[in-house]
Amino acid sequence: MADYYITPNYISIPKIFRKDATGGYFETCISCECNLLEEEVDYLIEKALKPYDGLNSYSTVFEYAICWPCSEKMRMTLSQESKTNIAKYFDQHLDLEERRKQFEETPLDVERWLGTCAISQAPVSELKEFQIYGHFQGKDMIFHHYPFTLSGQVMDELIHLISNKTLDDLQNFTDQLTSGPPEFADLLKSGPRVFI
Ligand SMILES: [Zn+2]
Repeated sequence: MADYYITPNYISIPKIFRKDATGGYFETCISCECNLLEEEVDYLIEKALKPYDGLNSYSTVFEYAICWPCSEKMRMTLSQESKTNIAKYFDQHLDLEERRKQFEETPLDVERWLGTCAISQAPVSELKEFQIYGHFQGKDMIFHHYPFTLSGQVMDELIHLISNKTLDDLQNFTDQLTSGPPEFADLLKSGPRVFI
């Protein structure tokens, strides 16, 4: 399954997955605060972006890094019903292997991988808001099923699949991340989606 361990596709972490404010690397897991650069732990970065010019110009609504074990723990907090609904949604709308084949010619071109919503195929230049996800080890970004973009619209669809109890938990998590301006309220309400 995880054949990137056999044929790794790495690049150093590109600018879009570094910290918005400083351009530096994410150094700690938002949950357990382990050191992501020194410990040999896989981790994810999620960012919510509001674009002005696709991937060239955008403002960052929120961003964080989370280690793999913590993201697994977070997935475990989803209700069984939510998990089933989300799995069904992705089964119907996204074939990650098929998607990976789309980029066989440009296996390390982050702008191509992130350039369209993985589910709706809408170009980011046409989106009002979107989220990007990446998979990292140390200072490397791994291309396999990640990275990908999900449009705000797809996020809304996903949120409707999640039970209220789970949403409350995620909202608590989001509250710790940011107190964003009101225009981002809808986006923030749906919060981080490390469970995807
Ligand atoms: Zn952690």
